[in-house]
Amino acid sequence: MGDHLGDSTLCVHAGQPAAVPGQPLMPGPVFAAPYHLDPAGWQPGVDGYGRGDNPTRRVLEAALGELEGGDTLAFASGQAAVTAVLLSVLRPGDTVMVPSDGYYNVRTFGEQFLAGLQVTIVEAPTAGPYPSFDGVRLVLLETPANPSLDVVDIADVAARAHAAGALVAVDNTAATPLGQRPLDLGADVSFASGSKAISGHSDLLIGYVSTRNAELLATMTSWRTLSGAIPAPFDCWLARRSMSTLDLRLRQQSATAATLAAYLSQHPGVRAVRWPGLPGDPSFEVAKRQMRRIPGLLGFELPSVEHAAEFLRKAEFVAAATSFGGTHTSADRRAQWGDRTAPGFIRLSVGIEDEADLIRDFGRALQL
Ligand SMILES: *Cc1c(COP(=O)(O)O)cnc(C)c1O
Repeated sequence: MGDHLGDSTLCVHAGQPAAVPGQPLMPGPVFAAPYHLDPAGWQPGVDGYGRGDNPTRRVLEAALGELEGGDTLAFASGQAAVTAVLLSVLRPGDTVMVPSDGYYNVRTFGEQFLAGLQVTIVEAPTAGPYPSFDGVRLVLLETPANPSLDVVDIADVAARAHAAGALVAVDNTAATPLGQRPLDLGADVSFASGSKAISGHSDLLIGYVSTRNAELLATMTSWRTLSGAIPAPFDCWLARRSMSTLDLRLRQQSATAATLAAYLSQHPGVRAVRWPGLPGDPSFEVAKRQMRRIPGLLGFELPSVEHAAEFLRKAEFVAAATSFGGTHTSADRRAQWGDRTAPGFIRLSVGIEDEADLIRDFGRALQL
């Protein structure tokens, strides 16, 4: 499918098999561990065992591949996807650079498992300045970063990292491929948690990696088959079905986030607001240059833990939950998970509820 298609057309049709009279528009999931083999033996290119390949996963991968612009492998979760990138690339003696303000489980994995494999971990803030890339094997970026919401110029870092001989992988969870295509910007790998906006209904865990590098693709494919970090057919099917409305959901979330960010920035009870689409935000200029749309993910700071808890108790349409990109508006006080954020900092994921209802709800809940 060509690049000239609009986002919603792509979300509905990407990766779908050709129409067959009498067959469903959206083929159902195929549940199987083993498939019948030819009595003469397994033929390459034919499904044999579900861990290696299966038809339902291929449909999801073809769709995500069209959106990201690269060959795509689906994984059991976003965390399975990022660890596949790390463990496929890194060897003893290597150095990996990770965001100091990004998804905390990546740093935890580094501390608990990579350090023991003689991999050196260097941290860099998403907004920079970045230390030298000399001697670095892999640079991991996350933009917009979760939870800091800082944005980095992917093309700029990719050029400098490549000049030093490093590979670049970008966590595209917050932006989604409709917000930016890291592979077009020079990254070697784009990966994401599909548990967030891609599937968008807070009902499954899934992840993926995309690349145009044949060698990396082969290594990560082998890693997935041998580590077994595969998503089940039903989750692949549900994720593909939910992707059909990705553009619609993101549009509504982004538009409401713009209104809420403006509302919160003039509210006397709110100390600070972060949204890369808000004029004056430290990430505004780079986000405007790099991103096709800004997700409905914003941060705001209340004076204390108690203020944050009171806000969450009073708000009717803001669920306390630690995920984002779903149809429900949800909020997470990130410091409770050990993120390096202020005690009253809340990461807000704007859902698809009506804007007027959310503004009214915030007005009531912020009378602290
Ligand atoms: C949630 C998340 C992950 C991990 O994804 P899971 O699907 O929960 O395993 C990785 N990166 C970012 C930025 C995330 O928000």
